[in-house]
Amino acid sequence: MGFSTVAIHAGNEPDPTTGAVAVPIYQTSTYAQEGLGKHKGFEYARTQNPTRAALERNIAALESAKFGFAFASGMSAIDTSLKLVKAGDHVILGDNTYGGTFRLFNRILRDYGIEFDLADTSDIVNLERAFKPNTKMVFVETPTNPIMTITDLKAVSDLAHANGAKVVCDNTFMSPYFQRPIEHGVDIVVHSTTKYLNGHSDSVGGFVALNDEKDAEWIGFVQNGIGAILSPFDSFLVLRGTKTLAIRMDAHDRNGRVVANFLAEHPRVQKVYYPGLTSHPQHELAKRQQGGFGGMVSFETGSLENARKVLEGVRVCTLGESLGGVESLISHPATMTHASVPEETRNKLGITDGLVRISVGIEDVEDIIADIDQALS
Ligand SMILES: *Cc1c(COP(=O)(O)O)cnc(C)c1O
Repeated sequence: MGFSTVAIHAGNEPDPTTGAVAVPIYQTSTYAQEGLGKHKGFEYARTQNPTRAALERNIAALESAKFGFAFASGMSAIDTSLKLVKAGDHVILGDNTYGGTFRLFNRILRDYGIEFDLADTSDIVNLERAFKPNTKMVFVETPTNPIMTITDLKAVSDLAHANGAKVVCDNTFMSPYFQRPIEHGVDIVVHSTTKYLNGHSDSVGGFVALNDEKDAEWIGFVQNGIGAILSPFDSFLVLRGTKTLAIRMDAHDRNGRVVANFLAEHPRVQKVYYPGLTSHPQHELAKRQQGGFGGMVSFETGSLENARKVLEGVRVCTLGESLGGVESLISHPATMTHASVPEETRNKLGITDGLVRISVGIEDVEDIIADIDQALS
């Protein structure tokens, strides 16, 4: 079945009691039991909730995964995926992940005995050197935020598996519409559903999708044991969001290409980072691995002053953190999303004071272009 058919129908069976076409928000903390040990499979809402279960079936199907788990945030989903390693294990972390992921490793997991090293996962020779005898996991994000470096998921999965390690991929930027990491050999996919999957900037959530039954059992155990579950209302919102994922992603992609090309031609812009541009060093890999290029575009204005003028001069785009909503959002990675990354690392990665990131929305593209143009001049 096609992607949109799955997006609209997986997990969305009519409600068994009323026939309601939209999965109801089961806003309950517990369930009446018929007798001792006799119930309908629902005991307590941290453990099971029908709205959340519908969303879990839905996104798992979209990611070509057998199992899916919905969490209260992208970060709690990522943290839970890291419960697959133990104290004394070593993790290779992509050197240009979401700032919060780096912070989780550097400021929290470090103190619980999880060893980690940063590596440029887009360079397979460099990645191979990062393996240690106790490496149990490679955590990648592709394209990276905000520099849009692409990692070859099949190559990384082959290398990791040969070394006895699992691969986790943060697929937030592409969404399963444009990239399904499990089909390239990745073991575990994580998402911030806050972004494209929900798509309307009105919910915070996260997701873990995977195929291995034993690992899935553990992820489910941790989800219940720690309790960072997605609420019924947020589950409903994301379930509503994924129904239009295909048409939204196509629109983000269309507008993203137009904005990237416009910026590439603009005299006040020194550099544009967008995998859809033929000038992007990994354009061919992006074309092979992704079904599209999406709506994330970063560009270099040359200085903090120039960046400030753009960020404070826009009228259609909104200055704010986050991405993946229907509205265009513009941000300053160095002081916003990547503020917790040390300055030296930031500069090495290209996250300079002059870098501006746009999450291109699905407004009329002429209005987005005119807005950026007036802010740049
Ligand atoms: C936003 C984001 C996260 C964190 O998700 P939250 O829902 O904010 O907790 C993780 N990874 C990427 C790529 C993100 O964009």
